[in-house]
Amino acid sequence: MKKITVSLFLIFLLSTVSYADKVKYVFLFIGDGMSASSEVALSLFLYGKTKQLFWNGFPVQTYMTTWSRTAYVGNYDKDNFNEKNGYDTETAGTVPYPYYRTDQAEEYFRKSGATDSAAAATAMATGVKVYNGSVCYDKETEKNIPNIVDKINKKKEYSVALITTDNFYSATPAGFSSHNVNRRDYKKIASEILLQTKPEIIVGRNKYEEINTLARLNGYYYLEPSDITEPQVFSLTDKKIFLNLKKYYVPQPVEDFSTDSFKYGDYKFSDIVLFATKTLLQKNKPFFALVEVCDIDKANHKHVYTKMLGGMYELNETVKSIYDLINSKSTDMTFDNTLIIVTADHSTGMLRFREKLRKGELPFTFTTKSKKTTVVTNRDISYKTDWHTNELVGCYCVGARSDILKKYINKENIMDNTSIYKILNEALFSN
Ligand SMILES: [Zn+2]
Repeated sequence: MKKITVSLFLIFLLSTVSYADKVKYVFLFIGDGMSASSEVALSLFLYGKTKQLFWNGFPVQTYMTTWSRTAYVGNYDKDNFNEKNGYDTETAGTVPYPYYRTDQAEEYFRKSGATDSAAAATAMATGVKVYNGSVCYDKETEKNIPNIVDKINKKKEYSVALITTDNFYSATPAGFSSHNVNRRDYKKIASEILLQTKPEIIVGRNKYEEINTLARLNGYYYLEPSDITEPQVFSLTDKKIFLNLKKYYVPQPVEDFSTDSFKYGDYKFSDIVLFATKTLLQKNKPFFALVEVCDIDKANHKHVYTKMLGGMYELNETVKSIYDLINSKSTDMTFDNTLIIVTADHSTGMLRFREKLRKGELPFTFTTKSKKTTVVTNRDISYKTDWHTNELVGCYCVGARSDILKKYINKENIMDNTSIYKILNEALFSN
């Protein structure tokens, strides 16, 4: 009995110590447009049942509201607002489809407004709800809103990595690294990132040749995936890196009932993220890494199920590869000094299942062609919108101080996306 008491006391002490420590490495993974049904789709394809994705095993899990000021019903007052006007649990439920489905909820999601990626990234990076279309900018006061990376840069204790499969100046990374009334002011956002925010590592696509030049002129070492060699992890320690994600394609699912099967393009995003992480670790400085897979959103907008599965698979594999790297003990990352959060900025597409798909099964589609149009009809699934919805998204957490999350989860097991800012703030800056 005494022995048990002593070891319980030790466990208590250890957990208090790790909780009190600052987190050395923080990964925030964002599946752009990743609805609960996108997660279910990949889980069914890989395992034939739901909730089998890598992060489904994480110790802290919740659902998250994503509404922006544009989606809020009535006048929004930041000091006195009603959460139900942002997301109405009574009508829409406390868990998302496919775990909850009523006609009333379906109607709510078809009609209610929803955030865009800019307002969602701003909420997560600043803790402030803004109107759709702006990044870290308040249209009412016409002022920039400081974000978590501004704070990191002021204190200089952490490096920052912006990693995305999208253009590096697109809404999600922009929300963590720039301020602009208009998310489409791409060149200005890119300039702010390269000239002022200056993350240690930037990985993403880029459509403008002059931006490559701007990066080089401002001290960035320019790389493309085909240039990467393993020794560079050690040789680039004193350089800022700009990795232009040229010729990136999400892997394609192959219908195969015996095993999960994806066909990759030239390279895997997970390998790129591993390269970026190992390079960051060689710099011997704590870091915050934002890692986004944008293709889930793009595919859900266009109702391309296979591309959505590819994006989901890439995210799942990327999270797994970082988790495995921590577990391998080949670096100084441990689950006592590294925090991993996986979430989405919003849902897209309102994917609904007519049939439960089996392991390795893709939905059956048929194409009707007339002279003027081509119509693709899905037999097993349907999409109710081609835009974003106000549906709850998943949020999963493991590692150092993952308990912080629990403080922000309400009685209905829901957290708001502005809490991501508060969690990052606490993990990175409180002693
Ligand atoms: Zn979108």
